[in-house]
Amino acid sequence: MSRVFNFGAGPAMLPLEVMEKAQAEFLDYNGMGASVIEISHRSKEFDAIINRADELLIELAGIPDNYKILYVHGGAQMQFSAIPLNLINRLPARKASFVLTGSFASKASKEAARYGSMLEVASSKDQNFSYIPEFDPAKLDPESSYLHITSNNTLFGTRWHSFPETGDVPLVADMTSELMSRKLDINKFGVIYAGLQKNLGPSGLAVVIIREDLLEHALPETPSMLNYKTYAEQHSLANTNNTFAIYMMQLVLEWLKDQGGVDAIEQRNEEKAKLVYDCIDGTDFYYGTAQAAHRSVMNVTFNLSNEDLLANFLSEADKNGLYALKGHRDVGGVRASIYNAMPRAGCEALVDFMKDFEKRNG
Ligand SMILES: *Cc1c(COP(=O)(O)O)cnc(C)c1O
Repeated sequence: MSRVFNFGAGPAMLPLEVMEKAQAEFLDYNGMGASVIEISHRSKEFDAIINRADELLIELAGIPDNYKILYVHGGAQMQFSAIPLNLINRLPARKASFVLTGSFASKASKEAARYGSMLEVASSKDQNFSYIPEFDPAKLDPESSYLHITSNNTLFGTRWHSFPETGDVPLVADMTSELMSRKLDINKFGVIYAGLQKNLGPSGLAVVIIREDLLEHALPETPSMLNYKTYAEQHSLANTNNTFAIYMMQLVLEWLKDQGGVDAIEQRNEEKAKLVYDCIDGTDFYYGTAQAAHRSVMNVTFNLSNEDLLANFLSEADKNGLYALKGHRDVGGVRASIYNAMPRAGCEALVDFMKDFEKRNG
């Protein structure tokens, strides 16, 4: 068996140890003679899995007692609807503020506009989302039910290195492409949500971390399976949840704990990203597409100064076991997604290839 270094943005590679464990126990979970996907979501065995997932999230992310953890159907983009349905009615003006740092942020803002007024606080669209725009949180409309940001912009390769102090306006963050990759002060946020398929497991499910007092404001027409309160009251098991995704996430979190937790993985992630950025910055052959001060640690975006060489670069990389490096069509060029599960050896192999390609074509 030979596995590629998978630089795909998502669904992304998962740790090999996790895949092997899932494979080994797939037919017979815990000596039950049945697979984890063949047992009831109300069985004591699954109960242990979901409880352990909660416990690991609380421990590894440092989630305080006044927050609930929810496992919500539909991945990250379903939360683009669930967030306004649950929160925009927090204040009667029904306003939601947004910082537009990429396509996902823009999509999220359009969904919110169905249920109230969308206020654009700042945007980096003028330069194709290559930076995080400045704004003064003191100028936020106090009638805003929340402020929404996308903490890491998966397509464009930028991230918020620090977060705004939003006072009484709850900060809501789409952290799909970086949750559990960096230390966070959860208290700064009203809601954090993330689709699992970047750093946590399979696609189709989102983890939502929400401050308890924010569970009380859902619009009356909110479908019950999009109402966060339904999830909070029934431990995300009001209906049959995606038991396989929760199981896989639990394994990924167990792995993360074995790696030394978020502190240790954050340091390793920064070193991995630095390897690639140093290679880009060390030559005119390549250039980064995001402004240096706003660069993502998870998604490294760059291009070749001579774009005629791009197709060759990508196809040769693929032949060398460096998979899915093609940039998103909104940016072009190359994107190396290097989430928690990407080993340092993957970044080293990429850099070796980049240097060799430059030598042969420079
Ligand atoms: C991948 C991604 C999404 C899309 O997630 P889905 O689960 O496909 O809906 C949304 N936001 C961000 C920041 C992402 O990286």
